[in-house]
Amino acid sequence: MRCMGDTWITNLTHFLTEAGEIGPKSGPARKLAEYLTKIVVDATTEPWDQPTNTPVRCRRRPRRKPCAGVIETDIDPDTDAIMWWCPVCGDNGTITNWQESRWDRTTDVQSQ
Ligand SMILES: [Zn+2]
Repeated sequence: MRCMGDTWITNLTHFLTEAGEIGPKSGPARKLAEYLTKIVVDATTEPWDQPTNTPVRCRRRPRRKPCAGVIETDIDPDTDAIMWWCPVCGDNGTITNWQESRWDRTTDVQSQ
């Protein structure tokens, strides 16, 4: 991946309480945490499971207008980190330690 500015490297557990809930109650940290958990759901939902796979809109507001991009996701086969990027503005990042969080849908596939 080419470097296109800031890359958000986030460890999901930093945003969670010991009970696995989103830690921050309000403010930018809460918004970021909710954004990241949506990306985790998106990245771990099978493509055929479309009804629960809601697109994640880009959170950036270049020139004070909401970016029209829809976040795309992939899972790095080597590190298992979730990679996400906005194809419109190039905002991108990785999420680690998402496994077995309540937003990890990979384990639902067998149980449902
Ligand atoms: Zn964007």
